[in-house]
Amino acid sequence: MPITATLINYLMLCRRKVWLHANGIRMEHTSEVVAEGRLIGVESYPQRAERWTEIEVSGMLPYSADTPIELAAKIDFFDPHLGIVHEVKKSVAKEQAHIAQVQFYLYVLRLNGIKAEYGLIEYPKLRITERVSLTTDDQQQLESQIRKAHALVQQETCPERLPVSQCRSCSFFEFCWVGEE
Ligand code: SF4
Repeated sequence: MPITATLINYLMLCRRKVWLHANGIRMEHTSEVVAEGRLIGVESYPQRAERWTEIEVSGMLPYSADTPIELAAKIDFFDPHLGIVHEVKKSVAKEQAHIAQVQFYLYVLRLNGIKAEYGLIEYPKLRITERVSLTTDDQQQLESQIRKAHALVQQETCPERLPVSQCRSCSFFEFCWVGEE
């Protein structure tokens, strides 16, 4: 399975969530969540239809020849002229996981020789926009995260749960905790 932005996002939250997702266990209604995100994006940014495009890119993590690590990214809103990735979040809070996700997009675009200057995470409900860059240091950290995600995906056993207090808003809550509280 290729490493995706979703897995990198989840890695910032919970190792077990990465493993469950990679093993095909889905509790969220992904298509509905994606559709809602797109709807918020289109309604909040109607200019998108004219200037932004959807793009899918893939590649291999450099220097991973011994253990090839495939990467794949599907970006809903990309401005190819200015090289800006736009991500729209319906969340009411900014999260480091969102930044990691957009950095992953920038990284895979650049791997493909596509101009990717920076990202903008737009939070319509908060009415704020977060600018995301990808420096050399960020890139090294991201490559380390990609290797960690890959190792987790290969792992045969499911990682331990987080403390329940950190699980309340997780879509896997019932899967991990039902009948055990
Ligand atoms: S419920 Fe908790 S342990 Fe389970 S995947 Fe979510 S955050 Fe991780």
